[in-house]
Amino acid sequence: LEERLHRRDRLASMGEMVGRIAHEIRNPLGSVELFASMLRQDLEQDPILRSYTEHISLAVQAMDRLLSNLLTYTRPAKPNKAWQATDGLVGESLTLAAHVLNRSHVTTAVDLKEAPPNLWCDAMQMRQVLVNLILNAVEAMPDGGTLTITVSEHARSSRDQPVVHLAVRDTGTGIEPTHLSRLFDPFFTTREDGTGLGLAIVHALVEGHGGRVEVESEPKQGTVFTVVLPQEIRALSAQARRSIRPIGLRE
Ligand code: ADP
Repeated sequence: LEERLHRRDRLASMGEMVGRIAHEIRNPLGSVELFASMLRQDLEQDPILRSYTEHISLAVQAMDRLLSNLLTYTRPAKPNKAWQATDGLVGESLTLAAHVLNRSHVTTAVDLKEAPPNLWCDAMQMRQVLVNLILNAVEAMPDGGTLTITVSEHARSSRDQPVVHLAVRDTGTGIEPTHLSRLFDPFFTTREDGTGLGLAIVHALVEGHGGRVEVESEPKQGTVFTVVLPQEIRALSAQARRSIRPIGLRE
């Protein structure tokens, strides 16, 4: 617990600094983009010079994305929770990742069991969690494979708080055992063009929902990331609520 509090303090002060830096960088970045787009309009007759301005804009977009990711990691917004249909969340996340999925040789399977439980969560944040996991899974299968998303509900006993498992499984490269403990660290990456923020963001957003992320991986066989989310407390009986109060849901 102490370590978690310490981490939260560190993140809070980092968040403040990142917030200021992001603001200071975004202003000049806006000018770069503005002037690049003005040049682009003037360069209609010159495809080569025009393509340079497109490279400038792409680089600006990449920097802007990096800043957004840094902000999401260091200052995750308080989740704005509502009931969400799980099949809708999974479908929307696959749609958001479609541009990458369509270019890959990955087959997608969705297993929602009979009646997937609704989720009490922030839809935007949970979509980001799923998209990050889906994109990682696709990247782990450069030669194709199967991406399987499974949703299931679990309760070890009637006194336990039920939890929903959202599992994203791939048949890709797998993860070296020595890397497992560092996966969720910000900036940990094994990819040439990686930022190492994807899983750090997944971790921060899931933790903000009072949940946790589990990983199982077998080198050369594949990996499964499971997001474990507590089910909405109000759906439980008063009896069950009393018995789970010590764990509690953070609102
Ligand atoms: P990035 O994708 O920018 O590297 P992430 O935080 O999303 O950052 O991932 C960190 C690292 O975890 C990756 O570089 C990769 O080594 C490993 N990783 C994440 N997901 C998977 C996966 N599904 N299969 C294999 N390795 C993975």
